[in-house]
Amino acid sequence: IAIATSQLQGKQILLTIEQYHYLNRVLRLKEGDRFIAMDGLGTWWLAALEEAQTAQIVEQIAVQTELPVTITLMAALPKGNGFDDVVRYCTELGVSTIVPIISDRTLLNPSPQKLERWQRIALEAAEQSERAIVPTITPPVTFTKSISTVTATYRYICVARGANMHLKKAIDSVPLVSEIVIAIGPEGGWTTTEIEKATSTNFQTVSLGKRILRAVTAPIVALSVIAATFEE
Ligand code: SAM
Repeated sequence: IAIATSQLQGKQILLTIEQYHYLNRVLRLKEGDRFIAMDGLGTWWLAALEEAQTAQIVEQIAVQTELPVTITLMAALPKGNGFDDVVRYCTELGVSTIVPIISDRTLLNPSPQKLERWQRIALEAAEQSERAIVPTITPPVTFTKSISTVTATYRYICVARGANMHLKKAIDSVPLVSEIVIAIGPEGGWTTTEIEKATSTNFQTVSLGKRILRAVTAPIVALSVIAATFEE
């Protein structure tokens, strides 16, 4: 289960009613039975259930499922619920931060409930793929604003046509412990102005191959290429 650091008290975890109910009623754990708790920031514990909504930490567990590189995905919001899949699959593939992008050709401006939904999906995907951390999903932001806040040295913008080189080749010389930012456009593609703004802030245009991928598929392919390059 995922817990907040505020729920830790020494070697004890103070469970919420929902967590206790899930462990006790749904999973049918009894007093003394063990389960795994994670704080979403990189620490996992083996814990034993107690009565009265608490659990005792047995030991810390070493989790080494993270990629050596830190990946920030800036992905333009696709139509409908397509972003759910982007969050789910990119979390499984090892993304660190996802920035939902409102681009010039993005049709919708999502409701605050959408952000909560994506954060929940990221948490569930991180748990199921045994990630040490839960990726951060930031509130949606315009592309122009988001590129002005990028500090990472290695920054790439995926363009369906006219890229300098394939992403795979571009990241080949990136050192093992680095921060990478990768931007993916919407269904209608980036506008020329957006690509110019990105390249003027040192984003390199990259390709994901000769076939045009859907706005939902492209982030998953980009993450797969990065993960395959840096996986140890
Ligand atoms: N007609 C649009 C265009 O020419 O940009 C297609 C947009 S595509 C459906 C959505 C986004 O996925 C693109 O903006 C780009 O970021 C990414 N993408 C799709 N296929 C790609 C490819 N083969 N190489 C690089 N990026 C790609």
